[in-house]
Amino acid sequence: MISSLLNKDTIVALSTAAGHGAIAVIRLSGPEAIAMVNGVFKGKNLEKQVTHTLHFGTIRDQEKILDEVVVGLFKGPNSYTKEDVVEVSCHGSPYITEQLLRLFLQQGARLAEPGEFTKRAFLNGQFDLAQAEAVADLIASDSALTHQVAMKQMRGGFSQEIKVLRAQLIHFASMVELELDFSEEDVEFADRTALRKLIQTLQKLIQDLLQSFEMGNVLKNGVPTVIAGKPNAGKSTLLNALLNEEKAIVSDIPGTTRDVIEDEVMISGIRFRFIDTAGLRDTQDTVEAIGVARTKEQLQKAALVLYLFDVTTTTPYELQQEVEDLQLPSVPYLLLGNKQDLASPAQLENFKDFDSLLFLSAGNKEGMEDLKQALLHQVHANQAITGDRTIVTNLRHFQGLEKTNVALLEVVQGLDNGLSSDWLAADIRRALFYLGEITGEITTDDLLDNIFTKFCIGK
Ligand code: GDP
Repeated sequence: MISSLLNKDTIVALSTAAGHGAIAVIRLSGPEAIAMVNGVFKGKNLEKQVTHTLHFGTIRDQEKILDEVVVGLFKGPNSYTKEDVVEVSCHGSPYITEQLLRLFLQQGARLAEPGEFTKRAFLNGQFDLAQAEAVADLIASDSALTHQVAMKQMRGGFSQEIKVLRAQLIHFASMVELELDFSEEDVEFADRTALRKLIQTLQKLIQDLLQSFEMGNVLKNGVPTVIAGKPNAGKSTLLNALLNEEKAIVSDIPGTTRDVIEDEVMISGIRFRFIDTAGLRDTQDTVEAIGVARTKEQLQKAALVLYLFDVTTTTPYELQQEVEDLQLPSVPYLLLGNKQDLASPAQLENFKDFDSLLFLSAGNKEGMEDLKQALLHQVHANQAITGDRTIVTNLRHFQGLEKTNVALLEVVQGLDNGLSSDWLAADIRRALFYLGEITGEITTDDLLDNIFTKFCIGK
């Protein structure tokens, strides 16, 4: 199908991070990979060695020794790209890696484009497109959960679900198309009731995957958590306590947090993106007025709101009013009674009728552990996070699933309206096309370029 895209040249790149390190790995892939390294390697004759072996020796530029290295041989098709791959482990000096790269280029290698190793792996059938994309996610993963999701996708969990859907649809498409061959005779091979049932099952599966995207987004980008409350309630102090560093501007002049400040904290593997906001109050100050408008904007985007109030200056009635004034768009929220350290037991007792209320003292970092537990509880209550569930994290996949869903709706409408088999078949084929794009059964050069140029060089 896409074999015309395959390059027959040999590519080379530094596969470890740039900069100084104990070692660095330069990777080559292509028909001449072994010969090219062998041309500058002094040690055993690499061309005569068996695959999956390591060889110690030196790399020389003419007679000058550039480095002592260990060379790993992976002969195709038993390699990452399914081509001959050589990995040269050298000392991690940018000077050495530059010199080695220069030598390999002189030997006729070409510098790899971003993601080209993984692109070749995909084109040579090592894995499908969704799995190839998971390689980038895996490298970018920075928490237990993002790692788990990327690993599952790379190992084919998500692709498998899509493949099962596709196989079932292909079966029906061929049954419906068979009817076309016998259109004169007016026969029906594909049982319409069974087809309708299948489509319903597919729609349910696709709905689940589409819904999981919200969670996927949360995993990748963090739970947008807005910290709101009146000026001086202690929002900046709370953000600082959460971040354990002095980032937000803390002051006792009301209204100094004029802009929206964001930062991220990882709590038990879940990333929270805390957004401190300007104090909510009617204001004549233009700069601050912009800040208040932004708060309202942020509240719309929040997945979770922390409403902070000063327990020493707020009455339960006022709190009730303030929460109502927020007009929260069905977002879960926690009420946080701050400055507990200054409050009398009677003052705290006043708030006993409120649900989802915690007392804390941001200034002294008291109650932070309970707050973190409450945050986690909110996320778990709202999103079924389990390692078993397939979670869509990739926007491209999400859009592909959405398009599939629309095509399936049209199949259902077609069935409802007793549409002829040729129209039905066309709608089913369209659904198949979009599913195929996700896993890469159907690709275009543009699509591949779009995906792989986002990778870094050497991947
Ligand atoms: P913001 O306007 O809501 O961002 O409030 P700030 O974080 O700037 O805090 C306003 C004032 O309250 C500052 O003087 C803080 O030091 C003080 N403050 C914040 N949290 C506490 C607390 O838990 N206890 C006490 N006693 N003071 C606090």
